Amino acid sequence: RERDLIARRERLLGPAYRLFYTNPLHIVRGEGVWLYDPEGRPYLDAYNNVACVGHSHPHVVAALSRQAAVLNTHTRYLHETILDYAEKLLAKFPKELGNVMFTCTGSEANDLAVRAAKAYTGGTGFIVTELAYHGVTDAVSQLSPSLGPSVPRGDHVRTVPAPDLYRSGGQDVAEVFARNVAAAIEDMRAKGIKPAALLVDTILSSDGVLSDPPGFLAKAVDVIRAAGGVFIADEVQPGFGRTGAQMWGFERHGLLPDMVTVGKPMGNGHPMAAMIAKPDIVQAFGRTSRYFNTFGGNPVSCAVGMAVLEVIEREGLMENARQVGASMRRGLEHLAEKHSIIGDVRGAGLFVGVELVRDRTSREPAAQETARLINDMRERGVLISGAGPHANILKIRPPLVFSEENADLFVATLDDALAAL
Ligand code: PMP
Repeated sequence: RERDLIARRERLLGPAYRLFYTNPLHIVRGEGVWLYDPEGRPYLDAYNNVACVGHSHPHVVAALSRQAAVLNTHTRYLHETILDYAEKLLAKFPKELGNVMFTCTGSEANDLAVRAAKAYTGGTGFIVTELAYHGVTDAVSQLSPSLGPSVPRGDHVRTVPAPDLYRSGGQDVAEVFARNVAAAIEDMRAKGIKPAALLVDTILSSDGVLSDPPGFLAKAVDVIRAAGGVFIADEVQPGFGRTGAQMWGFERHGLLPDMVTVGKPMGNGHPMAAMIAKPDIVQAFGRTSRYFNTFGGNPVSCAVGMAVLEVIEREGLMENARQVGASMRRGLEHLAEKHSIIGDVRGAGLFVGVELVRDRTSREPAAQETARLINDMRERGVLISGAGPHANILKIRPPLVFSEENADLFVATLDDALAAL
């Protein structure tokens, strides 16, 4: 049956989309932290940050159904849900970030941030990390080096190595990162390009859930601002409480971004995203550009977004991410005592990375072993992904409703899979 589905998918959708796993997973239903295949077999979802409050959360489903039954339309009429939600969302940000513009995907939010940064600064140059992923539009795919050489980048994009404590050899990673950003700016200027923005995830994601000391970004942000550019924090992965004890990843760095982009967890699976920015940036953009997004901020999306924030508050999910994330990391560190392939355990809240190495001294990436392990974990009913230049870093991002028992099951399954490896 799965083979038929794969063939049908390729015939209908073409070859650009990739499926995950050697033995692709067929999912028919989700509930809480669990996904179910057609035979009813449960899979513990620690794969993706989308189902932030848990799959098909009843409060979110009810809000969606209620609003869909009353009104859903494009965004050129006056309606209150968009304003109610904008107020609720902006209240979660420092007051300096006073405006929000809604889109449907994280890619569009970053695309909009790129346009607004250009309008505000008059620059056209952008700096991103070496393996960043920021989205699929033509402009943003050029700022997504993880897409590889298939997307050519012009002179207006510069990449800098992501800061990595584990492989830093004792260097001051904040200092090195800031110096690399400064060098990228010089390089741009030498070609007559004025910098517009530094665009970075506030927990490195595609680059490998790296050991980034909280605070590493602040110096680099000073450098881009001194050069007339702005800082865009991509919160599509870390945002909405995942890092535990704070709502946004940038709060770990003790800095205020000029713009923030959010997506994935915002609608718990419903497609919605946004750019949040300082009002003078949004003003500058509005003076020079028109913007219309048929579905961005539609009534159903706003009702869903509101329900997601309500669940995060009512169920104390930020605190849960902090507590369960901490005990999960303790469990993983305990595993590292048994399995020498574990080189490093890191992360914040329920955004956890485990780097696998062939040898703890040379730190040679255990790339093939990681691929085998991820597939084996799937056979054992636990879903995770890999990241980093060698894809040897386990990327663990369960729903924020993950319980201590879920974390124990996760660690025990990883223990078995590592023993089998
Ligand atoms: N930024 C980051 C950090 C992401 O991980 C993603 C999605 N993987 C995006 C932007 C793009 O979001 P979307 O797929 O919703 O367009």
